[in-house]
Amino acid sequence: MSVLPCPRGAHRDWPLLLLFFKIVDHPPDPAHRTGDRSRFDFDRDELASLLEGEPRYRVDQVWDGLYRQAVDPADMTNLPKDLRQHLDGILRPALGLLTESVSDSGDTVKWLWSLSDGRQVETVLMVYPDRVTACVSSQAGCAMGCGFCATGQGGFDRHLTAGEIVEQVVRAVRRGRQAGRRVSNVVFMGMGEPLANYDRTWAAIRRLHDDVGIGARHITISTVGVVPGIERMAREDLPVNLAVSLHAANDKLRDELVPINRRYPLGALSQACARYLEAKGRRLSFEWALMDGVNDRTVDAAELAAYARPLRAHVNLIPLNPTPGYPAIGTPPHRVSTFAELVRSLGTNVTIRRNRGTDIDAACGQLRASLRPGPVPIAAPTAAAEAISGPAP
Ligand code: SAH
Ligand code: SF4
Repeated sequence: MSVLPCPRGAHRDWPLLLLFFKIVDHPPDPAHRTGDRSRFDFDRDELASLLEGEPRYRVDQVWDGLYRQAVDPADMTNLPKDLRQHLDGILRPALGLLTESVSDSGDTVKWLWSLSDGRQVETVLMVYPDRVTACVSSQAGCAMGCGFCATGQGGFDRHLTAGEIVEQVVRAVRRGRQAGRRVSNVVFMGMGEPLANYDRTWAAIRRLHDDVGIGARHITISTVGVVPGIERMAREDLPVNLAVSLHAANDKLRDELVPINRRYPLGALSQACARYLEAKGRRLSFEWALMDGVNDRTVDAAELAAYARPLRAHVNLIPLNPTPGYPAIGTPPHRVSTFAELVRSLGTNVTIRRNRGTDIDAACGQLRASLRPGPVPIAAPTAAAEAISGPAP
């Protein structure tokens, strides 16, 4: 019996599509071209060329202004005015603000940005008592085709450049500063599959680490399970956190929910995760969007626990956020608790995350319905924010 209420028509062509599915970086072409270079796409040498004729220390001043102080060239008051104006003209921002939405409690802000070619991406800032997290997009759209995901339903537009990724964090840093807070964490859980845009994602991580000052242990890549990307991560020198969007722990169900599983099935995925753990010693987490009657049965909990236990993975449960293009709904709260208890009793650590505007660590690209538009300042950390890491009511 198939328990999956997925739209069969939409899934029918996936096996065929996957034959032609290129997981590594797509070559630039007119339809999928990478955006023009923006201010965070230049490296130091390129910046030095732009500043030719100026004293050498100007390069450090501008670099520091962009990355550490997170200010626009026009606001770099340690530069002469005409140089500021000149730089403002040539170091263009990548992100144009379309909308800013703020949660009722004021501690979650979501931005919808327009890129230079009109594509749109989202960034989310989450303010907690003990940390401030920026959730960033790595692609405009996504080619992975997970039927339950709003981004996947919209298809793939293009990869983001490293500069477009970095600028999302810099904008979040500025906003956090308004509330007297420092962005401490970055999670790649917005739009897109970061490991399908590996080189640019990793270049952005290097910049965030080296120049913005975000510690590697405070950066998390969330992947749907692109095994070669996980293997590459294991060979990098920065020990970032790895989150895998699992959603099913048997291949038949996962093939349906997460089509990339047909290329990288659960056995290969767990081996790649084990190699990552061995290489980096970081905690692994699994994301599991609980879908009513799909992956929330006793057998699903048992399979999840059996899969997670040898990897000592931490499981994050989040009730599915319903989307117009997918018929399933989120598991109701009382059954979410039962599922969590079962997984816990089988020896695996579990956290339940409520699927709200203020509680979106595990699915921060899914906020559209839960925030209201309008520029509202971030409130100081509140008791509500404190509750968000706790279990669902
Ligand atoms: N492509 C990456 C990162 C972006 S998606 C990945 O899949 O991991 C970020 C998270 O949101 C993933 O865990 C994804 O499974 C989850 N997600 C997507 N659609 C969702 C929905 N409708 N409800 C709840 N979580 C969702
Ligand atoms: Fe892409 Fe992640 Fe959405 Fe799947 S869940 S379609 S990988 S963004």
